Amino acid sequence: MLIIDAHLDLALNALQLNRDLLVSAHTIRTHELSTPGKGRAKATTALPDMRRGRVALSIVTAVAKASGHPIPHLDFRSATQTYAIAQGHLAYYRALEEEGHLRVVSDRAGLDESWAAWERWEAGGAVAPPPPLGVIFSMECADAVLDPEQLEAWYQAGLRLIGPTHFGPGRYAGGTGSELGLTERGPALLKEMERLGIALDMSHTSDQTFWESLEHYQGPILASHNDCRALVPNKRHLTDAMIEAIVERDGVIGATLGNWQLHRGWDVGKAHDFEVTLEDLVDHIDHICQLAGNALHVGIGSDLDGGVGFDEFPAEIDTVDDMQMIPAALAARGYGDDDIRGIMHGNWLRFLRRIWS
Ligand SMILES: [Zn+2]
Repeated sequence: MLIIDAHLDLALNALQLNRDLLVSAHTIRTHELSTPGKGRAKATTALPDMRRGRVALSIVTAVAKASGHPIPHLDFRSATQTYAIAQGHLAYYRALEEEGHLRVVSDRAGLDESWAAWERWEAGGAVAPPPPLGVIFSMECADAVLDPEQLEAWYQAGLRLIGPTHFGPGRYAGGTGSELGLTERGPALLKEMERLGIALDMSHTSDQTFWESLEHYQGPILASHNDCRALVPNKRHLTDAMIEAIVERDGVIGATLGNWQLHRGWDVGKAHDFEVTLEDLVDHIDHICQLAGNALHVGIGSDLDGGVGFDEFPAEIDTVDDMQMIPAALAARGYGDDDIRGIMHGNWLRFLRRIWS
């Protein structure tokens, strides 16, 4: 089954972690056998694995922050540095596009062509080389936008979604783990996003930013990679009221695969005496469906390459292509074929077609 994954950080892996995504995740692991660092020698995601896993379309990020609390490779001392890093991420996607590996999708026609090519490939028995992987360029944290007037240039370059913030404080809004809402600059950014038609990604907003953003922004909203706070009490997750607000605006939530997000009591980097499986993922998907009253507002937003390795994901997942086991886990819970197709790709497809119509 074709998959749309609403959250991958491919360029961060390539440029900050020095991973060549043209070779498989298992080959990347061998490159890193003596590389120190979190998630090293445990890569899950590279282009060959995505093709094998039929991840036909992904939302991919530029991710760089300027919070004033520097973290190597991610959080920089100034917005100018952050801008340049994000431009580098975009340049990486464009270079892969030029080489024929990716297709950067930024409008309805491009989306329909890219998707149709994958459907034709699948209908033809999936024996020919697959078409380029479709990607939609997004920003995880808007710190790289130097000021709201610059956003139009980013839009012209292909940017179509923005999550205004990440963990902690941001230049435009407070993120996960802060009690901060929109900053002085925040409303102007949201207005410009609305004018240009850039969708608002609520993943990583603080509670304050979430609710304030809804007042300042009337365009399309989504949460690219989020699970449910009702099941795992952590402020990174969406409350039931937030899920209902996204559903009310016809948004979609990408259920995300990190064990700490799926299962109460999982600590990143620690040993555990219990296993997290795709059944835990289905719990979160099902919770969203029960609140919505249908299966139209949830998809996948894996975050499989978001800085940790395969041992921080459900037991069935070694590399990204193992997401092909999610449909069986949904079927085992009683989900029918149409709903499963919706969750694996159809809901994101409908969302993107609507916002680009
Ligand atoms: Zn994230």
